[in-house]
Amino acid sequence: MTAPARTAPKPRLSTLDLIGNTPLVLLKGPSEAAGCEIWGKCEFANPGASVKDRAALWIVRDAEEKGLLRPGGTIVEGTAGNTGIGCALVANALGYKTVIVMPETQSREKMDTLRALGAELVLVPAAPFSNPGHFVHTSRRLAEETEGAIWANQFDNIANRKAHIESTAPEIWEQMDGRISGFTCAAGTGGTIAGVGMGLKAFDESITIALADPHGAALYNYYACGELKAEGSSVAEGIGQGRITANLEGAPIDAQFRISDQEGLVWVGRLLQEEGLCLGLSSGINVAGAVALGRQLGPDARVVTILCDTGFRYLSSLYNREWLAAKGLPVFPWLAQ
Ligand code: PMP
Repeated sequence: MTAPARTAPKPRLSTLDLIGNTPLVLLKGPSEAAGCEIWGKCEFANPGASVKDRAALWIVRDAEEKGLLRPGGTIVEGTAGNTGIGCALVANALGYKTVIVMPETQSREKMDTLRALGAELVLVPAAPFSNPGHFVHTSRRLAEETEGAIWANQFDNIANRKAHIESTAPEIWEQMDGRISGFTCAAGTGGTIAGVGMGLKAFDESITIALADPHGAALYNYYACGELKAEGSSVAEGIGQGRITANLEGAPIDAQFRISDQEGLVWVGRLLQEEGLCLGLSSGINVAGAVALGRQLGPDARVVTILCDTGFRYLSSLYNREWLAAKGLPVFPWLAQ
């Protein structure tokens, strides 16, 4: 057997240098379904196993440069989990403390990972954004009350999207040899879609940037007809936005797709079974969006999407038959035994 061709990445001098420079992989099933090339950016390969390590690093570096974060300081953030994990690992590597506020509905694995990293975890009931107890408002208050703390504020701190303008987009452009027709992903803070969109458009204005919006989010209607209106619901963690965050302001969105959990789950299951990729539901929703975009752009298209985080983070939910059945979602046949 011959070993697969590989170029070994350069040695790194810090764990922080492990963030970014993630591989791009051709997704066979999605490419066949779309009739064109669909590529996945492997953000689960970041040290915190999600796309949010990039935002965490840029936000912390930005706060340091502005003199807001000093040695021994604390990073406080409200998060669905992945940004918290990113903040905690960046904080550990740089000698800061971390306080993470998270809705109690998020996966147990994310909570366990945050505790393992030594973050102080504050769980709050899931609440609408208008409620002062919402995890974002709670984290802002905690940051204000804590001596030497910064509030990472991923939703409205544009150091988040800058991470994608300065790292994710140029990486994708280089990895695709400048031949890319479309990019799509879902939005949580909107940092990824806005930042990659802006970054790619700076290389080539004609690249189509499409939003893959889950049910229960308001952005599909906003980009389709100018009205922030949500319909339905989704169990996907980390995505689904009801307002135009600062990160989303001026995002170059050319097209939008509304993707159901069922459609996303089909791709989560197929990527696991047919390609050996274990991913979270937002990745499945992104891939469903990429297939829709690829079909629209035609057979010569080359579409890139984001594989946001590892499925190992959802073994007790997405990959658990009791959980799926309780949510009224189809159970993967191989879990039914
Ligand atoms: N997928 C997952 C699993 C996430 O945690 C997030 C971050 N909230 C996203 C997608 C969306 O990324 P962004 O915040 O950049 O829109």
